[in-house]
Amino acid sequence: MAGVIGDPIGHSLSPVIHNAGFLAAGLDWIYVGFGVPSGGGAGAIAGMRSLGIEGLSVTMPLKAEVIPALDELEPDAEALGAVNCVHRRDGRLVGANTDGAGFLAGLSADFDFDPSGARCVVLGAGGAARAVVLALARAGARSVQVVNRTRSTAEAAASLAGAVGSVADADSVTDADLVVNATPLGMHGAGGVATAGGDGPALPCEPQRIGSGQIVADLIYHPLRTPLMEAAAARGARTSNGLSMLVHQAAVAFRSWTGADPDLEAMVAAVDAELGHRA
Ligand code: NAP
Repeated sequence: MAGVIGDPIGHSLSPVIHNAGFLAAGLDWIYVGFGVPSGGGAGAIAGMRSLGIEGLSVTMPLKAEVIPALDELEPDAEALGAVNCVHRRDGRLVGANTDGAGFLAGLSADFDFDPSGARCVVLGAGGAARAVVLALARAGARSVQVVNRTRSTAEAAASLAGAVGSVADADSVTDADLVVNATPLGMHGAGGVATAGGDGPALPCEPQRIGSGQIVADLIYHPLRTPLMEAAAARGARTSNGLSMLVHQAAVAFRSWTGADPDLEAMVAAVDAELGHRA
């Protein structure tokens, strides 16, 4: 058994992704959602231990809270101070963060893009942005510029990239090879603030700064085509939504729990079907 802990988890796509993966791999496994509110993280990890649950995904608000209850942390989880996946290694519970690896795997699958030597701009400085900043720097990016409305969180995120990290303003998008939207601006129901075009759609940067030759990766997957993706595609950029990162980070977790390679196509098809059903 594997599962996800967090609150709320009712709309999580993780059960759909992992159960499709287990089925396609012929594994007699099941993945379940456990609603665990803030304050319940340590108890949930104790439950994992005593019930013999093999793997857990961890989502809001427990990503930092579970850390003291674990036996070990992998380097990404340690650097980010956030765990989104727990697996067993020699009877010990190990906390990992699969977001960065999932993001890079998605970039490779969607665009055959290797960030080594690339100029990257990350819009946002929250949990997802921090994982992306760290991953891009570790993958050898030439620069990782963080653009965020709150300067202090931007500085903290940029510091994860060490010497190649810096805080920038939205003008920096113009010179980027890769632009990542890690804000909720453009997310359905987010009610975001438009930064361009007055009453127009919520955009995390001015679209006129985007041009052909750039990759614009939006981490949002609801809607599947965000206002930023539409605007960037209209200006000749290549675009992707957040489904790749979601599925590829799940694939990293899947491998760490089962030792098997997941069928990514089966996982993507299951998410597509579920999103279609929900729409
Ligand atoms: P988070 O920790 O709450 O961070 C949100 C970031 O967006 C912060 O930097 C925040 O700026 C900024 N922001 C929020 N509202 C804004 C506004 N109205 N105007 C300008 N900036 C704003 O959230 P998160 O967990 O990192 O998630 C961010 C996005 O990534 C969400 O859309 C989420 O769905 C997506 N995501 C996708 C995946 C995936 O697998 N595809 C995984 C995780 C997250 P301040 O610092 O100023 O508050």
